[in-house]
Amino acid sequence: MNKIGSEKILVGGMQPLTMIDFPGRLASVIFTQGCNLRCRFCYNRSLLGEKSADPLTWESVIDFLRDRQGFIEGVVFSGGEPCLQPGLLDALREVRELGFEAALHTNGFFPDTVEQALKERLLQFIAVDFKAPFDKYQAVTRQQIDEKAYGRLADILVTTGVKHEYRTTVHPGLLSDSDIMQMADWLCDRNVSNYAIQKFKYGEALDPSLPPVKSAWLQPATIFKLRSRFTGFILRSDDSDADSLKKAA
Ligand code: SF4
Repeated sequence: MNKIGSEKILVGGMQPLTMIDFPGRLASVIFTQGCNLRCRFCYNRSLLGEKSADPLTWESVIDFLRDRQGFIEGVVFSGGEPCLQPGLLDALREVRELGFEAALHTNGFFPDTVEQALKERLLQFIAVDFKAPFDKYQAVTRQQIDEKAYGRLADILVTTGVKHEYRTTVHPGLLSDSDIMQMADWLCDRNVSNYAIQKFKYGEALDPSLPPVKSAWLQPATIFKLRSRFTGFILRSDDSDADSLKKAA
């Protein structure tokens, strides 16, 4: 197949090895450049613009992956928003031809791209961000969302049976427990069974007015409810969280 031009997929960085971004697989992560959202909690600000300060050519990425054939099992496309890249599907095809499994981390705004990738069996795992209840999307991400298109993606993932996970980053100043339960209801209505809640990481957030999260950021009762509603519920907290929160998880 023709090699895709590096201009068709802009790579802002790579993580050589991860054991957490592609469940069950040793993988490398490719961070694509550019995003259509501006989430207030985003800590990838260097990946948001259209140009990277330190881009990698696609050829160098492929050389790196070739050197690791037989060692790593998967390649994760993250960002930024990978589905903005015109060369994403070609890049996935190339990675699959090298014998790797592929994963996508997406904000969920591009169901057509994901659908095509699944038709070609290019993706083995998909993580989808669920940023906020739909009426709060603008406030949290600086972008309106098309609920119908977002829902179509959930239907595609559930119908095809591809391994997937929905994820919400929580800052109590942006989302309440009731917001989270509203989002959980929406996911359950669509038969999504894997949901991860992750704590806001302080330090590099796009919105510098967001304070660090020191007090309880989720009620234990909310965690119990979430656990009972999703067969695959994950709480990604950190060492500063109270024992009660960790036990509830
Ligand atoms: S957190 Fe939001 S703004 Fe940041 S890369 Fe992800 S979708 Fe884009």
